[in-house]
Amino acid sequence: MTTKYAFFEGRIVPIDEAKISIMTHAFNYGTGCFEGIRAYWNRDEEQLYVFKLREHYDRFLRSCHILFISLPYGVDELCSATLELLRKEGFREDTYIRPLAYKADTGIGVRLHDLEDQFALFATPFGKYIEKEEGAKVGVSSWRRINDNAVPARAKITGAYINSALIKTDAVMNGFDEAIVLTQEGHVSEGSAENLFIVRDGKLITSPVTDDILEGITRSTLIELAGKELAIETIERPIDRTELYVAEEAFFCGTGVQIVAITEIDHRPVQTGKIGPIVTQLRDLYFSIARGEREDYMEWITPVYAVVHAV
Ligand code: PMP
Repeated sequence: MTTKYAFFEGRIVPIDEAKISIMTHAFNYGTGCFEGIRAYWNRDEEQLYVFKLREHYDRFLRSCHILFISLPYGVDELCSATLELLRKEGFREDTYIRPLAYKADTGIGVRLHDLEDQFALFATPFGKYIEKEEGAKVGVSSWRRINDNAVPARAKITGAYINSALIKTDAVMNGFDEAIVLTQEGHVSEGSAENLFIVRDGKLITSPVTDDILEGITRSTLIELAGKELAIETIERPIDRTELYVAEEAFFCGTGVQIVAITEIDHRPVQTGKIGPIVTQLRDLYFSIARGEREDYMEWITPVYAVVHAV
């Protein structure tokens, strides 16, 4: 199935009608922000579950706040619009949802103030982001992560993704599946579009939110799950480059990437060079919750279709 509709300028329209001018401010200057949300199809229940919908819109509105974008919608309206669009699309497979907020004026002039703001939303069926989910080979990028005092990584800013695109293309052209990128100071930040965890002494370690990462929803989900379900502590602290080489396990996480085991970094195998036990357990937990197979985590997911109870 393909995308048939979009929420555009206040209503649901056929996707072909959701068009912007080439003069649009956000198209010229990257002055927008966005989200990436996933919905998982549960075949037995014939239900589509959106994962952490409200959390994504909370972050979306924080990105908007940083960019002086004010929308006529709050989190409740954004969630409702998303569910309405998904119902209209009627997808019966895993789906990716893309909300966008952007500066919609058509004049020349780089700024954030005194501009019209707009909101748009579409959804599309989507599978894997990285093919080798159980064994990605990655390299440390020669590019550096955008700095909070230049382009804040904490906000999911459209224009900021040129940094991610440079990192990703360079990695793939160099024969890697993905890259890990360092901060200006030289600490490990994250992947091109995903957060990173390593395991040392049986504990999870992930870069702090002050090391130019996107404050990932999957990242905080895994910190919580590791603690509650596996009794594994997570330490948020700066990570050195060579800690990557001596880690017991390493993995990426994010809405798009889901959870991807890293088995080689800069041509050095991570431990045995095979997917490790902690990432394996976290992946199993994550997918069972996201697909609605865990009664105790139903508050993390939102059903799209009406629930039909057998009588
Ligand atoms: N970092 C970057 C740069 C990203 O683009 C993403 C994907 N949104 C993530 C991390 C992971 O964030 P989340 O788990 O909220 O999707």
